[in-house]
This record gives sequence, C-alpha cells and structure tokens, in this order.
Amino acid sequence: MTYQYDLFVIGAGSGGVRASRVAASKGYKVAVAEGSALGGTCVNIGCVPKKLFVYGSEYGHGFEEAAAYGWQHQGVSFDWSVLRDNKTKEIERLNGIYGNLLNNAGVELIKGYASFVDAHTVEVNGQTYTAERILIAVGAKPFIPEFEGNDLVVSSNEMFYLDSLPSKALVVGGGYIAVEFAGILNGLGVKTALAYRGDQLLRGFDQDVRNFASVEYVKSGIDVRLNTDIASIELLDPQQPEGARLVHFKDGQSEEFGLVLYATGRVPNVDTLGLDKANIITGKNGAVVIDSNFTTSVPSVFALGDVTDNIQLTPVAIKEAMALIDYWFDGKPVNFDYDNIPTAVFSQPAIGTVGLTEQEAQTRGLDFRVYQTDFRPMKHTLSASTSRSLMKLLVNNENDKVIGAHMVGDYAGEIIQGLGVAIKAGATKADFDATVGVHPTSAEEFVTFSETALKKRD
Ligand code: NDP
Repeated sequence: MTYQYDLFVIGAGSGGVRASRVAASKGYKVAVAEGSALGGTCVNIGCVPKKLFVYGSEYGHGFEEAAAYGWQHQGVSFDWSVLRDNKTKEIERLNGIYGNLLNNAGVELIKGYASFVDAHTVEVNGQTYTAERILIAVGAKPFIPEFEGNDLVVSSNEMFYLDSLPSKALVVGGGYIAVEFAGILNGLGVKTALAYRGDQLLRGFDQDVRNFASVEYVKSGIDVRLNTDIASIELLDPQQPEGARLVHFKDGQSEEFGLVLYATGRVPNVDTLGLDKANIITGKNGAVVIDSNFTTSVPSVFALGDVTDNIQLTPVAIKEAMALIDYWFDGKPVNFDYDNIPTAVFSQPAIGTVGLTEQEAQTRGLDFRVYQTDFRPMKHTLSASTSRSLMKLLVNNENDKVIGAHMVGDYAGEIIQGLGVAIKAGATKADFDATVGVHPTSAEEFVTFSETALKKRD
C-alpha cells in the first residue's frame, strides 16, 4: 500500500514541529496540520508570552526596590496595552520562525484541524490525506469545572489578550499556572486573591518549598486563601456582561472581582480528533494511551506531549519527539527517562526543582539526609523587600548521591538547570563540596552546605 506521506503530524506545537522537521530532514515526506498559530501552547499562549508577562510584572517590585539604590522615580505608570501588544508582536515573529523552520525542512503545512478517517487517513477541511505513520501532537487545553457561572471566568488562554487589566482579580487553583498568573497580576498592580481548595498550594512539590513559597507570595502582596472553594459566580450587574463578577464562596461569603481566572488544570485536546474512527484508545481525562515507544493502540499511530498522560512540559515533548525519531530511523527502542526532570515555576519568587522531594524520598524508604537554608538575598539587604530565598538539597546516605535540589528565590529556574546536569550525572555531595562557589551569588549556597545546615527530620 502506498501512502501520500511517510508521516502526517497533527499539531504544530513544540513536539509536532520538532518531530516533523527532523523526520523531513532525514528523508521522510512529511505534512503537518495546524488550525491555529504555529508553535502551539508554549509559543502562543503558554511558556513564552507568560515569561514576557513575568518580566513585565517584575518591574513593578523593581521600581520600589530601586529607591534604596538611589533611583528616584516620579509618577511611574503602567500601560497594559503596550506590554500585551509588544508581546503579541514577538509571538508573531516566533510564529514566522516556526513557519520557516518547517518550510526549510521541506515539511508541507496544511492549515486546518485534522480528524481521523481510519488508521492511515486523516481529513482536513474536507480533504483526505493518507500516511504510513500518523503522529498526534495536539497538546492540551484548560479545564474549567462545571458550576453555576463558569461562563463568567477566563482561562489562561484569554489572559494573553485581555482588553484591559482589572483593578481586582481572583485566581482559582494552586498549580503552576495559578501561582504564575497570580504573581503576574500582582506585579502589574492588580489587587490579586489566589483561592485554592486544599491546605497548601503546589501539590506535588516539596512540602518546605510549598510552605515557604506560600509565605513569600503573601509577602509580595498576593492574598492567598487556602481551603477556599467557589460555589457560584454571577454578574454584579446583569446589564453589564463585561462588568464585575460577584463570586459566592462556599463558606457563605461573597465578593466582587473585575476578573476571575480559573487555572484548574489542563486536559488532552482530543475532542475533535475522531479517535474512535481509528480505534485509538484513550485513558484518564481522554489522554491518548501509548506504550513506551509512543505507539498508540493502533500500530501506525503515535502520540507524544501533553495529549498523553506524561509530564506536561515543552522540553519533555521536544525530547520525546527526538526519541521517537530515533526509534523510527535507527530502530532504537525508546527508553525515555522521566526521572530528574528539572522544572521551574515562574511565580514571584520563582521555584526551581529537580529530583526527589523529601516526601518522595521518604515514601521510597530511602536513607537520606537533608541540607536546608533560607536567607535574605544580598540584593534585598539594601532594598526594603523582606523577601527571602530557600535552598534545599537531599543526599542519599547509601552512596552520597544528591537525589534532589529545590529552591525558592530569584533566578531559581536558571540555577536549577545547572543542578539538573549534576544530578543527572550522578553527582555526590562530595562533588558538590569539591566545587568552588561563585561569589557572591545565591547559587553558591548549593556547594557550601555544611553539617550546620542539616535539617532535623523525624
Ligand atoms: P496543575 O495540574 O499544575 O494545577 C491544577 C490546580 O487546579 C491544582 O491546584 C488543582 O488542585 C486545582 N484544581 C483542579 N480541579 C479543580 C477544581 N475542580 N476546583 C478547584 N481547583 C481545582 O495545572 P495547571 O493548569 O496549573 O498547569 C498544567 C500543567 O502545565 C502543569 O502541571 C505543568 O506541567 C504545565 N505548566 C508548566 C509551567 C512551567 O513549566 N513553568 C507553567 C504552566 C504550566 P489539587 O492540587 O487539589 O488537585
């Protein structure tokens, strides 16, 4: 049987673009279907514009802190439309780069949303295309729970294009997106409340990190409300659909907000794919089920990235794409290592983490010790900020290997990347001790931990 393409990729996000252009550069005839802007969530409504917003919002605190360094400023003001529109111009530039990457690699771009006809055929805009292999790389979309008034909230998607900033906002959720956007809004001068249904934000992170970050968020001005649930939301004035939202909390309190952002998780973007037409099996929340070689229940169909139940991070999707290419072209079975993936939460302050949390190490029954410190970063010895940083290192007592590193504080994302290399390479505490610190930095704390920093554990 001959097909029109060797590979048809559905979705030109991080994973899809990487897979299609590398496959094409190795000789495959490749098409990629994308109904929206090139680059997917990360480039358009995720990592990239979010980070630009974080940079923008950090100036809010920066102006206050600069006074002690001698800077005087009068009448500082912020214009949301400038940040939003400059961000959009940059994203459009990146969309162009993605287009060139595909074009230069010889990938055919088909504009539209694809859905399955059978295991080797998809349809886009009424036209069918056949391929020996089909790769599903359509990512995920925001999940907003069912409740009265949920049509009055926005998701992270809309945050990138708001007409104006409210004076007061409520962010609901306690994960990456919730704490990142709470920080952005707060930094941009919006009175921001962050409501989370559980006892502490950032479930799954190290408990000390969670507790410490939460305190720092409060210090930065965010009104963190734990154990808080929303019962319903209505318009304050039914005649003004764009006006204030009246939020009714489950404890009986009600409060007005100009904007309510729900950041309550993301679900695989599979609704319109027609997966059943090709008998492709899905699991939890509709995630496409794959084996260790990214192969679905149908041998000709593959999936990677956020549409599967794996870790939802752009660099993971990109590495998965490269591993899949190796599998196709070199026949190397994929043995993707999901351990020790460094990650950062771009809240303010930021969080960086790699390896095991103290709770995970405990659950695994490991014999380990913990070094921990928190301190006032040098920058804030002059500024009026009371912000502090936390650093924590977990070491396996059996072999001296560092098995986890965690940080809350400025540049945590940048710092944790380097530590990720060390931990991936199996560095021991002795290796860390033998490393000369860069002085004066916060990062040097990681190589100067002595017995005095040992945490007393139960
Ligand atoms: P997360 O899964 O990280 O967090 C979802 C949050 O919403 C949790 O606090 C969860 O609470 C809460 N929640 C879920 N359902 C409800 C509900 N019905 N009512 C109230 N609260 C609810 O999702 P995000 O959307 O923040 O992010 C999705 C993923 O995207 C992340 O896991 C991450 O992998 C990735 N991401 C990475 C970023 C980065 O690398 N910097 C940035 C942004 C996203 P509970 O904990 O109780 O379940």
